[in-house]
Amino acid sequence: MIPLILSLRKPETTVKKGLLRAGLHFSLPGKFGHTGDLLVTVEETQVLLRDRDGTLGAFIEKIPMTWTLCHFGGQRPWFICPGSRGGHRCGRRVAILYVVGRSFLCRPCGSLVYESQQQDRLTRLEDKARRIRLRLGGDTALNTPFPAKPKRMHWRTYERLRQEGEGAEYALLVALGEKLQHLQQKMDKLALRSACMPT
Ligand SMILES: [Zn+2]
Repeated sequence: MIPLILSLRKPETTVKKGLLRAGLHFSLPGKFGHTGDLLVTVEETQVLLRDRDGTLGAFIEKIPMTWTLCHFGGQRPWFICPGSRGGHRCGRRVAILYVVGRSFLCRPCGSLVYESQQQDRLTRLEDKARRIRLRLGGDTALNTPFPAKPKRMHWRTYERLRQEGEGAEYALLVALGEKLQHLQQKMDKLALRSACMPT
C-alpha cells in the first residue's frame, strides 16, 4: 500500500556500519519506493532527505530526529513523525517512515493521508463518469448501459467521450475494489486483535 521509505529498525547494525551518526551523508538506492536514489544527511537533530531525480521530483525534506541511549551503550536514532492528526502535530517517535505522495509519515498518519487521497480520487473519477453520461443525454446512474450516441453528435466526438467515460468508470471500479480490499484488511486485523483479547 504505502512504500517503505526509511527504516531505523536495526540501528545497531547501521550505526556500527557508520551509517547513522550525525554528520554522515549517504544515499539509499531506489528500492525505497523511488526510481532515483534518496540522498540522506544525518544531523544531530534532523535528517535531510533529498530526491533530485526520483519519482517524487526535486525536493529536500527535513525530518526531526531524536536519540535514546541503548542498554549496551551507544545511541539509538528515532524519527519524529512530522505529520499531524486531528489538528495536532503527531510527533510520534518511530523507526520507520512511509512515503505518501511527497510526505514522510508514520504509519497512522500515512494511512490517514493515503485514505483521504484515495477518497479524493474516487470522487474525481465518479464526477467525471457522471458528467460524461449527462453530456451524452444519459442520467447520472452508473449501473445502467452506457448512453447511445446523441443524434446531432459526431461519431468521432462520441467515440472520444465514450472512451473517456468508460475509462473513468473502469478506473473507478478498480479503485473501489482496492478500497474494499483495504477495508477488508483493516477488518481482519481488528477481528484478529479482538480474538486475542483476554476474556
Ligand atoms: Zn505520525
